[in-house]
Amino acid sequence: MLGPIFKKIEDKIDLSIEEIEQLLSIQKKDALEKLYQTAYKIKTSHVGKTVWFRGLIEISNICGKDCYYCGIRKSNHETKRFLIPKDEIIKSALWAYNANYGSIVLQSGERSDHEFIEMVADIVKTIKEESNNKLGITLSLGEQDKGTYKKWFDAGAHRYLLRIETSNPKLYEKLHPKDHIFQKRLDCLKSLHDLGYQVGTGVMIGLPFQTMTDLANDILFFKEMNVDMIGMGPFIYHQNTPLIQYQKDHNLSNEELLTLGLKMIAVTRIVLKDINIASTTALQALDDKGREMGLLAGANVIMPNVTDPKYKENYLLYENKPCTDENASMCKDCLKRRIEAIGETTGYSTWGDSPHFFKSDRNKKK
Ligand code: SAH
Ligand code: SF4
Repeated sequence: MLGPIFKKIEDKIDLSIEEIEQLLSIQKKDALEKLYQTAYKIKTSHVGKTVWFRGLIEISNICGKDCYYCGIRKSNHETKRFLIPKDEIIKSALWAYNANYGSIVLQSGERSDHEFIEMVADIVKTIKEESNNKLGITLSLGEQDKGTYKKWFDAGAHRYLLRIETSNPKLYEKLHPKDHIFQKRLDCLKSLHDLGYQVGTGVMIGLPFQTMTDLANDILFFKEMNVDMIGMGPFIYHQNTPLIQYQKDHNLSNEELLTLGLKMIAVTRIVLKDINIASTTALQALDDKGREMGLLAGANVIMPNVTDPKYKENYLLYENKPCTDENASMCKDCLKRRIEAIGETTGYSTWGDSPHFFKSDRNKKK
């Protein structure tokens, strides 16, 4: 049954939702290999064999939201809260710049107060100035007003990551309190597009109640939203969250979860082709080689954590987060070795934008 689907892919014919679901349901080893190889071929012809590094700085775990899956949700009183002082954030960013990372990601819990908004604008401006405008800056700071997104864009940020978490509004409702609204996420993604950001979204994979049809729809959602980047990864339970109640009836082994994550990367690459796809740390939480497997299944971006280790242990979105005790240069050396070992190269001192952004109708010029 899979033969005709692979033939369609070769002939560059769009896949139907049922066909996407069939690919995501593959279990047999040889068919899985074929899927990953097909995605890898499409990756190399559309975005090459260079892996782009984004130095990830987790600037704060203070969060005003209460997502039912997340270890740093505001109702988790077991977490020690931190906000890295401005000068230390800038220092980490410049470390990444001097280590020839082309860009960084500033991520944190969600805050929309004036002080935070101004602080971020100031940090972005300073990093741009001190790196002679060379370091690319991606933000991942949750839902904000359009005015805030504009302020940060004007300060020099040019990419934004905001996961939709799931494209199924009913499932979204199950995963969030009532005042966390699906439509607001969609509006935020639209504002980010309108302002000229390169926009990234993504989902969690292997959530309780999530079906294969949901995941297939997620991929079609990415396409419909015309996004430039995807950051998605396996969902991993955290003890101090409401979703933990479902763990006992929802038995995906680490291996199954990893395979599902890799299949999502592969099929997303096959369907969207020229975008950037991150091989996320959550894959590594499931298997020491998880991120390399992600690259071989079609991902082309890695986000090494460059946050000072003294803060990392408190930024636990999920359990078993890897490398929380490593410093940034250990992370960098280990990654470079891992990437070369699978025959890819690391892209230094370049933003590594997704070719899709420049081809897409909204940005024809650039
Ligand atoms: N507050 C911002 C950025 C930090 S959270 C935001 O929510 O956008 C970044 C991502 O972590 C979220 O989008 C979510 O997809 C992921 N995440 C949270 N809890 C997780 C868990 N238990 N397992 C896997 N990913 C998780
Ligand atoms: Fe806060 Fe983001 Fe976690 Fe939701 S996912 S609780 S917004 S840090």
